[in-house]
Amino acid sequence: MRPVIKSAWPQEKGRPKSYIPHTKANNDLEATLGPYCSYCEVFSSDLEIEHIISQDQDDTLAHDWDNFLLACGKCNGKGGKSNKPVDFTTMHFPHLNNTFLSFSYKEGGLITVNPAPTGISRTHAENMLNLVGLDKYPGNKKYPKQSQNDKRWKHRKIAWEWAMKYLPEYEAGQKTAQDIVDFATQNGFLSVWYTVFANHPPVKQLLIRSFAGTATNCFDTTNSFQPVPRNPESQTDPI
Ligand SMILES: [Zn+2]
Repeated sequence: MRPVIKSAWPQEKGRPKSYIPHTKANNDLEATLGPYCSYCEVFSSDLEIEHIISQDQDDTLAHDWDNFLLACGKCNGKGGKSNKPVDFTTMHFPHLNNTFLSFSYKEGGLITVNPAPTGISRTHAENMLNLVGLDKYPGNKKYPKQSQNDKRWKHRKIAWEWAMKYLPEYEAGQKTAQDIVDFATQNGFLSVWYTVFANHPPVKQLLIRSFAGTATNCFDTTNSFQPVPRNPESQTDPI
């Protein structure tokens, strides 16, 4: 999951901008986060305002900038996050953690919890995966009654296949890093492209710079743009 930088509450006439109704936040959110679902990473011109703490859980946060992200209908809706209870202290979030370290991306559109982090970090990654249901794909026994309409895995699979097609072309000098990134940014799924181009720092550098809203501080510029923990001071969960 792409880690993002979310700007502070935008100001208007010297005071925090009003987001009543909350849909007024859409353009400001896209300006800071880019046109991508904060959870599944799909590129979309039809993203919804995602209330991190749902209105069922706390309606006093319904117009609060700090409680917004952008999400596609699947991640935001029934079968996704919907109005499930959220606890920031037990789940990774893309604007608070380096969520690239939370998950592993694989062939076939598959996503799993990254086995590398241990203990609490891993539990927090798992809690996020379950909150949004990103690992819903046909045959996953965790979800026996999965809706056929949930095609997030399929879009991730297509991104993986495009990245695998571009990889040898890049390595043969037929495609530049810019060619790859121009295509990737119009489709989304930075995490997939980043995973496939893991051995090519110039591509990784351009990916994290070109996907608007990516938290570039989550990647080590002095070490091949390897992902690094976002909260190193935390004893319990540095991710
Ligand atoms: Zn989504």
